Amino acid sequence: MNYNKIFSKINRALNKTEDLGKVATYISELGNVDPSKFGVHLTTINHQHYQFGDAEEKFSIQSIAKVLSLVLAYKLEGEKLWERVGVEPSGTSFNSLFQLEFNLGIPRNPLINSGALVISDILVSHLKNPKDEFIAFVRSISGNPNIDYCPRIAESEKLTGHRNAALVNLMKSFGNIKNDIDVVLDFYFNLCSIEMTCKELSGTFLFLAAYGVNPYTNERVISISKSKRVNAIMQTCGFYDEAGEFSFKVGLPGKSGVGGGIVAILPHKYSIAVWSPRLNKKGNSSKGIKFLELFTTETEISIF
Ligand code: GLN
Repeated sequence: MNYNKIFSKINRALNKTEDLGKVATYISELGNVDPSKFGVHLTTINHQHYQFGDAEEKFSIQSIAKVLSLVLAYKLEGEKLWERVGVEPSGTSFNSLFQLEFNLGIPRNPLINSGALVISDILVSHLKNPKDEFIAFVRSISGNPNIDYCPRIAESEKLTGHRNAALVNLMKSFGNIKNDIDVVLDFYFNLCSIEMTCKELSGTFLFLAAYGVNPYTNERVISISKSKRVNAIMQTCGFYDEAGEFSFKVGLPGKSGVGGGIVAILPHKYSIAVWSPRLNKKGNSSKGIKFLELFTTETEISIF
């Protein structure tokens, strides 16, 4: 299929309507990004590449990185992981506090902030040099030694990270955070600060379209069963209180970030990354979702 042609066609259609989304400013560094940026990159499991627009420009992947920390924690901890974090969609915003109190400090899933903070705590417990070992893991699955944290973004987020501090403190009070809260928060802010281009992002997630095997190196990243479960969690929880809508419109497992990125996979076929910084009210890229909706409509393939 000539995806490049489809990309241009969809872009022409989208340019006819005004994007009313707003760039995230609660992390002040994210507010400095040009809102008109737009990039797409699709990588097939047979190593074909298709792209459009600003596909080779780095951006902050933010919560998309939560999938990668989940994968590593799941590898290290196995099924015991699910004693400390659930697998149910939250139906609440990514940084919501009230459900966590009700659920006695057990986050509904690993892709909301509270869940990713528990996953960060687990990684801090398992790894000797958590930040170094985690980024080495990301580099290994992406096959790209240049992928890195952005200290500027991590620092900026730390300055306004009061809700995340509240979440981690609440969970600590329930005994679901084992390490020092500042260490856990520092790991989490760095995790969210990772930068990638659309091309790098789609390549990094390709193993989830290939049943857990990295198609570049043929190395198994996670088992088939774990890969299935991670995809299921992306499908049901990847867009917070918009996860149902994303499934309904796009029909692929995916994950968003407040940097305006979205990655989605079609098992056995491709991984696609889209970047457009203007966010809708749920904190997901508005043009990104629209683009992917038109993409699966146009190609007539989704997981459903
Ligand atoms: N770093 C962001 C935060 O903790 C991640 C949120 C997101 O991308 N949805 O608020």
